[in-house]
Amino acid sequence: MSDIQVTFRGVRGSHAMPGESTIRYGGNTTCLEVRAGGKLLVIDAGTGIISLGKELIKEHFASQKPMEVVLLLTHMHHDHNEGLPFFQPMYIASSRIYMFGPDPLEENISTVLFHSPYFPVELEELPSLKFLHSLMLSDMLYFENNEPRLIHSIHSPHPSTDDEVIVRIHRGKAHPKEGVFMYRVEYKGKSVAFCTDTEGYVGGDTGLIRFVDGVDLLIHDAQYSTDNYINDPVPKQGFGHSTPQMAMEVARRAGVGRLILTHHDPDASDDVLDSVETEVAVEYPGCQLAREGMQIHL
Ligand SMILES: [Zn+2]
Ligand SMILES: [Zn+2]
Repeated sequence: MSDIQVTFRGVRGSHAMPGESTIRYGGNTTCLEVRAGGKLLVIDAGTGIISLGKELIKEHFASQKPMEVVLLLTHMHHDHNEGLPFFQPMYIASSRIYMFGPDPLEENISTVLFHSPYFPVELEELPSLKFLHSLMLSDMLYFENNEPRLIHSIHSPHPSTDDEVIVRIHRGKAHPKEGVFMYRVEYKGKSVAFCTDTEGYVGGDTGLIRFVDGVDLLIHDAQYSTDNYINDPVPKQGFGHSTPQMAMEVARRAGVGRLILTHHDPDASDDVLDSVETEVAVEYPGCQLAREGMQIHL
């Protein structure tokens, strides 16, 4: 049995892209399911979270066990949270939903995602128990009696052991305009880091390289080809996304075990992504592109 199980629920960047050209990689926007030590962590709530919610509801009705979800938001761009109003566990009274994300999180969620006229249901109308926590620069998350707790990782170092799930949090600055949070989940000596919506620097983003140092699995943004990045009628420099080469540079310098590229451009068809995957596998053996439904066990 694996210690950490990762399932890609949505791998598309910018906006959902259903249709014939995206059937194999998937058209839903960002959502990653991570299971470790009996905990369910969900990173981002793009449209990919909707089907996860429906599966959890089915399990809940079959088992009668309350649902507990730790939701970690990277930032508030729509493609990372537009599925949240349709995440059905929020509508069940016995659910406990712990949410972490950019400050001020409660305002970010309650004034846009759950607010008329954008959506007919207000956050406080939802019967589930919700715990919202804004993240600061150097927070770390651990579990105390099964409840997630935040501590300041520099000023209050937590004597973690391999036997507990912890989530390290890094604030990346290379995404307009408020930056982005990145998450590194560790359990029993295994680790996975999720680093989306970030653009590379010359020589690699040193803060990010330190953050993902030695992870078993790095999931990294690679929305644009170098050609899109430099030459398109609208060059994508400064849009806050990486090329596969930028992602590979981070992975090489950090000595990661395995690299998966995600946040695919909505205009990239399955055939285009197949050819990207063939190219990157030559430059970085084992590197793959994320697909909806893909599961990785660590
Ligand atoms: Zn995005
Ligand atoms: Zn973004």
